[in-house]
Amino acid sequence: MIRVENVSKQFNKTRALKNVSLEVNKGDIISLIGPSGSGKSTLLRCIHGLEHVDSGKIYMDDEWMSLDDEKKFRAQRNRMGFVFQHFNLFPNMSVLQNCKLAQVEVLNKTDEEAEKTALEYLDKVGLLEKKDAYPNNLSGGQKQRVAIARALCMNPDIMLFDEPTSALDPEMIKEVLEVMKDLGKQGMTMVVVTHEMGFARKVGTRVVFLDQGEIIEENASEEFFANPQSDRAKDFLSKVF
Ligand code: ADP
Ligand code: MG
Repeated sequence: MIRVENVSKQFNKTRALKNVSLEVNKGDIISLIGPSGSGKSTLLRCIHGLEHVDSGKIYMDDEWMSLDDEKKFRAQRNRMGFVFQHFNLFPNMSVLQNCKLAQVEVLNKTDEEAEKTALEYLDKVGLLEKKDAYPNNLSGGQKQRVAIARALCMNPDIMLFDEPTSALDPEMIKEVLEVMKDLGKQGMTMVVVTHEMGFARKVGTRVVFLDQGEIIEENASEEFFANPQSDRAKDFLSKVF
């Protein structure tokens, strides 16, 4: 579904990604893990086109996501949902409005269609009764579930998550992970930057371990945790467990 080919990205003197290649297949739930500053967010943001790569290419279904064809690039991007650590909800809009806006503006849906879809996904994440609330009146876990519902309203083929539970109080982490787990069960393709090793191991299908801008190790989740190959992965796991 997504192919990252020899991608490099530099910020001033920091080489955030060094010749990274990665394939995401339909139904994969990939956990991107690694120390802080290893390039996880940069990789996810490059896939979503929020950052432009210095070199290398990213393909979606074998089509290069070239910036040259802006219309096509936008259509490719619209097939991906992105969930941020800090939710990025519009604070001046109700939960329902948050979920409807891009459907109307980007997908040109009618108000009724957008509302129907929004209510469906709010129900799915267990927040139908909060549809008229404003983000500031929600808990962190609720905000993140709204953000997930909002992304799903765009009917994406793949969901990208950048540390979706890192800003949450511990008691709220589970409700968000449960929503993500359900999504995975329904066959959604996902790439998740996470420090939740339980999620990576039990829900994720594959682990990609990054360090200093490079993919050091990649394996089936169970195999990665049971039997890490590289010293850097072993060292990382000994620190997080
Ligand atoms: P991670 O998500 O694994 O913590 P990042 O992808 O955010 O890592 O960052 C990788 C490296 O790139 C870090 O050294 C970070 O400081 C640097 N970096 C990331 N984004 C920027 C930016 N916009 N400007 C300058 N440096 C950046
Ligand atoms: Mg990050």
